[in-house]
Amino acid sequence: MGAQIIDGKAAGAEVRALVGERAAAFSEAAGRKPGLVGIQVGEDPASEIYQRMKAEAAEAAGMRSERVVLPAGTSQQELNARIAAYNADDAVDGMLVQLPVPAPLTEPEIANAIDPVKDVDGFSPGNLGRLMRGEPAPVPCTPSGVMWLLEKSGVEIEGAHAVVVGRSLIVGKPQAMLLLAANATTTVAHSRTKDLPALCREADILIAAVGRPEMIRGDWIKPGAAVIDVGINRTDDGLVGDVAFEEAVEVAGHITPVPGGVGPMTIAFLLANTLDAAVRRTGLGIPMKGD
Ligand code: NDP
Repeated sequence: MGAQIIDGKAAGAEVRALVGERAAAFSEAAGRKPGLVGIQVGEDPASEIYQRMKAEAAEAAGMRSERVVLPAGTSQQELNARIAAYNADDAVDGMLVQLPVPAPLTEPEIANAIDPVKDVDGFSPGNLGRLMRGEPAPVPCTPSGVMWLLEKSGVEIEGAHAVVVGRSLIVGKPQAMLLLAANATTTVAHSRTKDLPALCREADILIAAVGRPEMIRGDWIKPGAAVIDVGINRTDDGLVGDVAFEEAVEVAGHITPVPGGVGPMTIAFLLANTLDAAVRRTGLGIPMKGD
């Protein structure tokens, strides 16, 4: 036996190419490129890498990208003033602040400061509310990418029992909403869940978004299940996911590797959200993602 390995690198490239085509159509119709601003506070090396990757991907897709690095110790008031300036800038369609942010900054203040139309991470209260209500809005990028991988891999979602391990605002909770909207019977597990291995064994679709290296073992997996590993953990052996891949690949029906699984989808959907924001803001008739 052996699971079908889901190639997130190829899927991410496919989404980026689709976005690139639409970005070109947008630029022609609007007379300007879709614009993305990434704000980073402090010099955390991982944030630095993510921000650079996002900016490069935006430019490769034919967008205008602006990277802003503010010093650690920037006050909330100073950051909010920068965000307000970009909210008012017509050439900016999408904006994100790289998380985590150093104190005294707080994520909720940031999520509230960004214009919901430009909130391409989809973390603002309004956009998370729209997701729950089933109204169109920017959806958090990683869970969107997970749905794309499941759908493109032919995994049956409707009626399946999906177990999401992790309940963060960035991954677990929006992931559960998307699975529910796709008619999966959805369970959300977290650090206080009792007998997590037994719960995972009931999952037809198992999403791991925990941040603990290889916590989910092969014998936690129902034979034939689709296993999506969102975790990115830096260890002495390099990057590993939340799932013990070598064990799980023997049991699962589908599985994402780390790296090369969910990771590339997050940036691809950031670009898709930026293009969608540009289209919404200008009212131009460029097809939206998924059309
Ligand atoms: P958070 O730390 O915000 O959330 C982790 C969640 O896991 C929490 O809900 C926590 O439960 C739960 N958890 C922690 N320990 C256990 C345990 N022993 N058993 C069950 N549940 C547990 O992390 P994120 O959601 O931000 O990220 C999760 C992982 O995904 C990380 O490795 C991160 O690097 C990665 N990631 C990857 C992305 C990508 O592009 N591929 C994008 C974003 C994140 P509780 O709420 O009870 O504390």
